[in-house]
Parts: sequence; C-alpha cells; structure tokens
Amino acid sequence: MTDSAITKIVIVGGGTAGWMAAASLAHVLDADRISISLIESENIGTVGVGEATIPPILKFNELLGIGEREFMRATKATFKLGIEFSNWGGVGQKYIHPFGDFGTDIEGIPMHQFWLSQRQRANYQYSLFDFSLMVKACQLRRFKHPEYRNPKSVYAGIHYAYHFDAGLYALYLRQFAERKGVIRYEGIVKDVQLDPESGNVKSVILDAQRKIDGELFVDCSGFRGLLIEGALKTGYNYWSEWLPMDRAFAVASEKVEDPIPYTKAIAHEAGWQWRIPLQHRNGNGCVYSSHFLSDDKALEKLLSGLDSRPLAEPKQLCFKTGHRRKFWNKNVVALGLAAGFMEPLESTSISLIQTGLARLMTLMPDKRFSETTKSLYNRRTIQEYEHIRDFLILHYVASKRNDSLFWKHIRGLKLPYSLKEKMALYEDAGRIMQYEAGLFTPSSWLAVLHGQGIVPKSYDPLTLRFPVEDVQKRLDAMRNLIARAASAMPMHIDSLQ
Ligand SMILES: Cc1cc2nc3c(=O)[nH]c(=O)nc-3n(C[C@H](O)[C@H](O)[C@H](O)COP(=O)(O)OP(=O)(O)OC[C@H]3O[C@@H](n4cnc5c(N)ncnc54)[C@H](O)[C@@H]3O)c2cc1C
Repeated sequence: MTDSAITKIVIVGGGTAGWMAAASLAHVLDADRISISLIESENIGTVGVGEATIPPILKFNELLGIGEREFMRATKATFKLGIEFSNWGGVGQKYIHPFGDFGTDIEGIPMHQFWLSQRQRANYQYSLFDFSLMVKACQLRRFKHPEYRNPKSVYAGIHYAYHFDAGLYALYLRQFAERKGVIRYEGIVKDVQLDPESGNVKSVILDAQRKIDGELFVDCSGFRGLLIEGALKTGYNYWSEWLPMDRAFAVASEKVEDPIPYTKAIAHEAGWQWRIPLQHRNGNGCVYSSHFLSDDKALEKLLSGLDSRPLAEPKQLCFKTGHRRKFWNKNVVALGLAAGFMEPLESTSISLIQTGLARLMTLMPDKRFSETTKSLYNRRTIQEYEHIRDFLILHYVASKRNDSLFWKHIRGLKLPYSLKEKMALYEDAGRIMQYEAGLFTPSSWLAVLHGQGIVPKSYDPLTLRFPVEDVQKRLDAMRNLIARAASAMPMHIDSLQ
C-alpha cells in the first residue's frame, strides 16, 4: 500500500478550478507525504467570469475552515437567495427561483400538493411563491443567516450562496494553498510527456529547465483541456442540440444602488442576460446562440441593457456545451472548464468543480489507478451533468415564447427521455421525483415548472384525506408566518455591513 501511494500531484491551471483543487487537496492530504504543484500562466490568464454560486459553496469554505467575514471582505461578496427570471415563461413575466423549500410538508406530503388541491377544491387564490421565505426576502431586499441552532424556527430553512469576484476568490485560495505548501510555477506548459507503456501522463514541460513530473494530474487548464484532450484525446459529448447557446459577452459596470440579494436572468430573443450585484460593482453578461443572433447585436443588447456605465471593454467568450467523454482518463482528472461546460443560467460550474473534488477525495486513487474507481467517478459525474442539463433545458422548453426564430426553434426540440418523464409527471399530478445525484432539489424544479406557467392537471390524491377547511388554516398559517418572518429580516445592505 505505501509503495503505491501517490506522492506527487500536479495541477495544470490556476483559475477558480485550479486553486479550488490546490486549496482543498492541500487541506485534506498529508503535506509531508504528498507534494502538490500548480502551474499557471499570467500571459494566458483565466476565463475571468463566474460570479454567481449556489449554496454548496458554503460547505466548501467550511471544509477549508474559511470564515465568512474574511472571505466576503476578500472577494467583495454579497449574499444570494435565488435567481429572478424575467421574460422566460413569456415576455413580461417574472418569477424567482429561490434556494430552499416552499412551506413545509404536511404529514410527509409536499406542501405544494396541498396548494394544488386547494386551488382545485376551494379556489385558493394565494401565490405559491408566498410560501417561500427566500422569495419574500428577495422581494423586500432582505437577508438573514439561517438559525441552524433553532431547528423549529422558520429561519432554520434559509439557504443562501454568494455573488463574488471569482478572480479575487482564486487569489484568496492561492494564498491559502501556498500557506499549506502548494508550489506554484509560473509559465506556459509547452509539452506533455506520456508514459509509453501505460499511456499515463508522466510530466509536463514548461521550458528547457523545467520539467515537472507527477503521478496524479488534475487538468484545470480551462476550455483547452491541455491534458485531458490535448494529450489524451478523450473526446467530447456535445449538447448543443438541446442547449444552443455558444457565446457570451461579459462586462462589469458601476454600482448604482445597494446590492440586491439575488441574481437576475433576463431572457431575450436568442438567449438571456445576467446581472450579478457585488459589493463594489455589477457583473453583466449576454449569453446567446450565434445561429440566431450576430455578435454585433449581442454586444448592443448587453450594452443597452446595462443600468450604469461599463467599467471595461466587454469580453467575448465562446463555448461548446457538453462534457468530456471521460472526466477521469488514465491518471488525469479534469475539473472546471477543462471537464465540460453548461451555460451559467443556474450558476452551476463552480459547484461542479466542488462536487468533482469531493468525489476525487472520496475515491482518492493510488498509483495503480483502478479502472473500477475511474469508471464510478465518470458514471456519477456524467449523471450529475445530465441532471443539470435537463434542468437548464427546462427553462427553455417550459416557456411559451414564440416571438423569434430562436424560440420557435426551441419549440421543436426533441427532449432527453429523463426530462420528458420529469415534465410529464409534474404535468399529470404535480409530482417531482428527486434525481439520484441531482444537484437541484424538487423545490428548485417546482420553482421553474410553476414559475414558467406549467399547470398540473391534477394533484396527489393523498391530500384528499385532509378536510378543505383544515388545509386552508394550515396554508394560511404558513403564509402569514413567512410574510412576518421576511419583514422582520434585516435589509441585505445592513447584513453586508
Ligand atoms: C460566460 C460565462 C459565465 C460564467 N458564469 C458563471 C457563474 O456565474 N457561476 C459559476 O459557477 N460559473 C460560471 N462560469 C464558469 C466559471 O467561469 C468557471 O467554471 C470557473 O471560472 C473555472 O474556470 P477554470 O479554472 O476551469 O478555467 P480558467 O479560468 O480558464 O483557468 C484556466 C487556467 O489554466 C491556465 N492555463 C491554460 N493553458 C495553460 C498552459 N498552456 N500553460 C500554463 N497554464 C495554462 C490559465 O493560465 C488559467 O490559470 C461562467 C463561464 C462562462 C464562460
């Protein structure tokens, strides 16, 4: 066992993925036994976007023992309670996909089933979104930390994430990782040497003086996938037939108002725009399909949609939606953009880096690189990607928009079976089953399905054993509690200060 234990890990790339990998591996592995090196190039730089996260990021920081105040100060972060989707169900419509649940289950039956049955049985008029504390807090621009120590409190159910400057986060993690002994090399990887027998990556070459050997390689080199694709020719599964977005323009703009505790995602005729409030500025971007919108029009759309002065020249990013055929091939594990990419509509990329790292730590290999371990890693990761893919496609296909060639194209999409089944179950009786290895809970699915106007034909018959008057009282009590609790939360800006 000791002979085959890994002693040298090499991470190629120092963007968010590279430094998340370096910091967490250095934190959990024995620094006296394992050397961790990271290579990055300031000349190449990083992708320079990626500012909105989802709640699992809290766990990542917690694992590393990073305090929230220090982290937020260092990364200019704000709190995020959800995403507001505008013009998705139809032009002029709006809803918030909140983190956390809608109301509370009643005797094991999801709350929304009672809401559905009450609509049909008693013409119940209140909005389902009145049952989400996070939606109410977003509308009032309020924020409060969860009261974990008081599980009966309505505030125990608060879920949140952050908006932050990803470049500053990478820098923060770099300092953390270097303190833990990670060695950073500045330079461009010019060549990759493979072991002629195993086909594993043996070393990366920077220049005549610097050849860096390794046993386990983590490819965080961004879209180019220097090791996983450049050296190992792993191949890529393309998903543009379902998610046709392939470009974005991004630009930061001046802060004009107190930051709001949610991301904005505004659909347009061939894609959508994001607005992400940080402490000191807004992040903005226009995501589009180049088949349906020209670069010039997309840029115009981005700039005309800003609510303040841009702080730099907009940057264009081109991407291919999909993932590597294998995320772990030979002795190379790809993370971040080197592993795959799905548009940032639900802020999932950084979270996928985190789940990839968690899976790698659970399945930490030795030099034998067991095929069983790799195939389990790959199977689970593919499942996770596919479930996010389905969730993203839902935002498009649940829309009633038909006002442009792009939206007409969406109407004709042939859906993956997994999504078709999920939508059919909901349309039939409002049921939402949790995917195995799904990042998004049934509450998230409910927010989008309902928010975009899909109305189930029926509801769970188990609700029928509860008298209508009784349900009415319980729903009203929940709704009132949430309204009061939201109004009593501090303003987001005060929580930040
Ligand atoms: C338009 C857009 C919006 C996004 N928004 C979000 C969001 O809101 N939320 C979210 O979670 N994610 C988002 N993402 C994804 C997020 O930006 C990435 O997942 C994250 O930044 C990780 O990137 P990375 O580290 O994999 O790659 P990069 O940032 O590209 O880093 C690659 C690294 O590899 C190095 N490198 C490359 N080639 C070489 C070489 N030959 N030699 C040496 N070094 C090399 C580079 O110098 C760099 O350090 C978005 C992505 C895009 C495209």
